[in-house]
Amino acid sequence: MEMVTKILATTNEVSLKGGNRKWFEQKITDNVRNVLEDLHLEKVERPAWRVLVSFSEPVPFREAARRMATVFSIASIMPVENVGHTTDDVIAALPSRLGGLAPSSFAVRCLRSDKTFPKTSIELEREIGAAVVDLKGWKVNLTQPDLTVHLLVDRDGFYLWTRRVAGPGGLPRGSGGKATCMLSGGIDSPVAAYQMMKRGVRLDFVHFHSVPRTDPASLEKTVDLARILARYQGRCRLAMVPLLPIQEQIVANCPARLRVLLYRRFMVRIAQRVASRFKGRALVTGESLGQVASQTIENLAAVQAIARIPIIRPLITLDKQEIINTARRLGSFETSILPHFDCCSFLVPERPATRSTHQELSKAEETLDIDSLVSEAIAGIEMITIDQPVPWSEIPIPPGAEDPS
Ligand code: ATP
Ligand code: MG
Repeated sequence: MEMVTKILATTNEVSLKGGNRKWFEQKITDNVRNVLEDLHLEKVERPAWRVLVSFSEPVPFREAARRMATVFSIASIMPVENVGHTTDDVIAALPSRLGGLAPSSFAVRCLRSDKTFPKTSIELEREIGAAVVDLKGWKVNLTQPDLTVHLLVDRDGFYLWTRRVAGPGGLPRGSGGKATCMLSGGIDSPVAAYQMMKRGVRLDFVHFHSVPRTDPASLEKTVDLARILARYQGRCRLAMVPLLPIQEQIVANCPARLRVLLYRRFMVRIAQRVASRFKGRALVTGESLGQVASQTIENLAAVQAIARIPIIRPLITLDKQEIINTARRLGSFETSILPHFDCCSFLVPERPATRSTHQELSKAEETLDIDSLVSEAIAGIEMITIDQPVPWSEIPIPPGAEDPS
């Protein structure tokens, strides 16, 4: 197992943020410290706008990378080694650091955070590059190297690395305001939540269920999904809303082909009331254009017509496979595919409408007492605080962080 005592990470987009930079820097440091706290963490420093993590004893790189890959704004994660204070020390370390590698070409890239170091980056790159050629006979390619040997000159010496694991990118959590995500037990909505969190938005969740007509296990499944997502943003709230009385009214009084869209309009009405309690400024859904009958552009518009806050649909243009890829990476896929009976598959007609309109849905709702149905559902909400994220072992190791075989 690859063990490390230092990890260097780069961050994303922070330079764009001008005046907020200090806040962002602090936030990222805190978030990294948070996920690594119980992993022999010694300190987190910021040389040359990077994040340098030191451990008090060797830790498995894959475990540290798994955790750092949940910190939005981290762009890349590198296991690095302090190879000493002089260029001779660096050259002496090359045989062990480059052993086993056989690139078709290479380049040396140097960063100086210690600006008092007497040689420039270019001088260092030339010197170490020449030593690599002497040692290995590799071909130099400065524009498209197969392998890059990275060096960082910091106050406490030279750091060297050749491996890089991609981080999640995005913006630090808490930098993008708050929203409320409609979380079903399916594959899509946890991915939509992840995409919003990636842009720094803090989420709370609302889930609609048809218990006792559906299995209460679907509630546990939703809690499990929220606990996975809590790994990426920390504590959140989940409102469990009973939808069954509303569904029964719709089934009894409205055209069958409009059922799903009418369920949806009630979900939105209720979710925006919950959002206002959570101080969420928008709703987030996992809808994707054309995926099912309710997700045509006409039907999305007909449902949205009763919304008073924006509905954000981060997956709107994605194919199912793209959504599944992200679900696997974030660790929700295995939970999402556990069998459950969704409230929207409850009493679903054979031929749902694919092109409804606001007028048609409003007409169908005339026989319903919308306000009292909404109030009744809200009175029946069970509020859950998700403060126990899943164990780290349930979060995937990011690609490239597995031990080299
Ligand atoms: P998912 O995989 O997220 O369930 P889906 O492809 O099954 O999505 P729909 O069932 O049409 O699509 O739901 C579209 C979106 O509406 C969901 O992504 C979710 O945001 C919201 N939604 C659907 N059902 C529920 C529910 N029971 N509770 C909360 N939100 C829901
Ligand atoms: Mg669904």
